[in-house]
Amino acid sequence: MITISKRMVIAALVVCVAYGIGNAQNGIDWVRYQDMAVDLMQQYLRINTSNPPGNEIQTARFLKKVFDQYDIQNEIFEYKPGRANIIARIKGNGSKRPIILLSHMDVVTAEPASWEVDPFSGVIKNNSIYGRGALDMKGEGLLHLMTMILVKREGPPLSRDVIFLGTADEEVNDEGSLWMIANKADLFKNAEYLLTEGGDNLLEDGSVKIVGVDIAEKAPFWLRVTATGLPGHGSRPVADSATNRLIRAMNRILDRETPVKLLPAVEQFFKDIAPLQREPLRSQFAKIRESLNDPTFAKALTSQRDFNFLLRNTISITMLSGSKQTNVIPNAATCNLDVRLLPGESPDEFLKALKDVIADPSIKVENVNRFKPPNSSPIDTELFSLIARKTKENYPTAVVTTKMLSGYTESQLYRQLGIVAYGWVPFYTTPEEDEGVHGNNERVSVKNVRQGTREFYEVVKEISR
Ligand SMILES: [Zn+2]
Repeated sequence: MITISKRMVIAALVVCVAYGIGNAQNGIDWVRYQDMAVDLMQQYLRINTSNPPGNEIQTARFLKKVFDQYDIQNEIFEYKPGRANIIARIKGNGSKRPIILLSHMDVVTAEPASWEVDPFSGVIKNNSIYGRGALDMKGEGLLHLMTMILVKREGPPLSRDVIFLGTADEEVNDEGSLWMIANKADLFKNAEYLLTEGGDNLLEDGSVKIVGVDIAEKAPFWLRVTATGLPGHGSRPVADSATNRLIRAMNRILDRETPVKLLPAVEQFFKDIAPLQREPLRSQFAKIRESLNDPTFAKALTSQRDFNFLLRNTISITMLSGSKQTNVIPNAATCNLDVRLLPGESPDEFLKALKDVIADPSIKVENVNRFKPPNSSPIDTELFSLIARKTKENYPTAVVTTKMLSGYTESQLYRQLGIVAYGWVPFYTTPEEDEGVHGNNERVSVKNVRQGTREFYEVVKEISR
């Protein structure tokens, strides 16, 4: 039973919660927007856009409904049945060029049996919202959506258009972005900035240690190596059979290390994280270019996977195939190499050098993916300084640095249009949470969604004044 006085207290509390009294700042009812962010995040994660097959038309319709509700101009492009992109725009006065908030709406597949919860349930457990895409990258897409709503309802007059772009198929072939660039580039190609995935932050012992803004990615240059030779019965070995030649070639590849190259952005990264290290690493990182001249140091550093890929073109031997039967010597054997090139590298030169290492003209090496030249964005921009400044305001001890990704993001496609593209998201995750990306139990903390809503909006609002 509730007494009158208690009822009054509860009524007062309800009023406070509903209007965010006590939390309002700059007149914005943050509690209400943050509640909304959590609710929309759960709804977004419940839409299954596993790619293949993608089915992004469903997420496009979901987002359209929200944009329509807030009277934000938007359009869906269903470029083939079930596959769709969505663009939404809030117009500025045009004195500055637009900013694009880019997110892919597809997710990689999930193996429900390996998860603690249904990967498309969007449930909240232990203060985290679970679902495939929570970090890669519906979570960031949700921050973009909330930013659009906040800009529309609460923001100051805009100097530039703020564009939301949700795309299909990033996880497989980039069909969505490639289609937009080929057919609808007029809608966004004059943009100055683009924000998307790729930021790499570190939360340790509850505090934000590193905020990494992705300004460059390595480029996949996938190769298939094929050796051919005399086939035969396994009982009568052929000394230079296809398989034997292939194995010798692979050995030569493994024995030859690609040269260490220090790009200016990577040099900056080591300098930025130097203060977080213990001696002697601290001094060695601070003057990394000099330190790398010491072969012992270079060897030790590149033996760590997290650092090695930053410093060289890498080769991973992945798919292998030869005979289908134990007693058959095949006439051909192949292996695929997942090669990742540093920005600025020439694939032709890499291929030539690799063929020299293989030193067997009968072995064929061919490129088997659509090579996209690696590129990077400058850091001496208003947007980069703003992200750094805002991060420092919120997390004074955090190190803000540039990060080159080992993986690929769509930034690469948009940089070709002359747009400055950064990977940045104000989600601060532990290494354990990061394992959910393309792994099991992908989740984002409720705290990240709530605070991220505000932090993302504040950067976009500021850059668009
Ligand atoms: Zn992604």
